[in-house]
Amino acid sequence: MPKYTLPELQYDFAALEPHISGKIMELHHDKHHKTYVDGANKAIEGLEEARQKGDFERIGALERALAFNASGHVLHSIFWQNLAPGAGGQPEGELLDAVKEGFGSFDTFKTQLSKAAGTIMGSGWGAVMWDPLAKRLLTLQIHDHQSEVMQGGVVVMVLDAWEHAYYLQYQTEKVKYLDAVWNLWNWKDIGERLQLARTLDLRLTGTVGARTAKRPG
Ligand code: MN
Repeated sequence: MPKYTLPELQYDFAALEPHISGKIMELHHDKHHKTYVDGANKAIEGLEEARQKGDFERIGALERALAFNASGHVLHSIFWQNLAPGAGGQPEGELLDAVKEGFGSFDTFKTQLSKAAGTIMGSGWGAVMWDPLAKRLLTLQIHDHQSEVMQGGVVVMVLDAWEHAYYLQYQTEKVKYLDAVWNLWNWKDIGERLQLARTLDLRLTGTVGARTAKRPG
């Protein structure tokens, strides 16, 4: 059976300083992310065991554990690649066009995503996804790692708003952390994710009307 594995970071723990401390990155990757990898594998093993025994008594708990942990694994794996040392600034090209089309302007997009991440009740993520029905970018406010998502959407950009992502460095000043992350966005990675997401076809003809709004020139 294939196992989920913890991917290596493509940069040093301290490479995102001063915006995110090396200690946070080390704990976040080596401990928190790893916990989700292990939890996802354990849920898969539990399901395998249930099939072997023909005993599905714990199916509900196993499915919940799988959704939570595997989603945590996916989101953290994207988050590490969404960030890069010396990155930030503004996106260009096709990604910038999609941002403008979806949100009006880069500044509005930035505000909307930061607000989504900053106002989660409990633990969660702000995220940007490609909506393959209307072929546009949308923001999401993901609770825990798996709740309040739009089915079929492809996440291209995620912002970890769990306390473990910032508390050691920023304590209660979550807004400062959410601002600092904008110095780290790897627009190249995010743009490539958007390109790939655009190729998805859910075969849901008739689920969205024709465009009426004018595209930005
Ligand atoms: Mn996290």
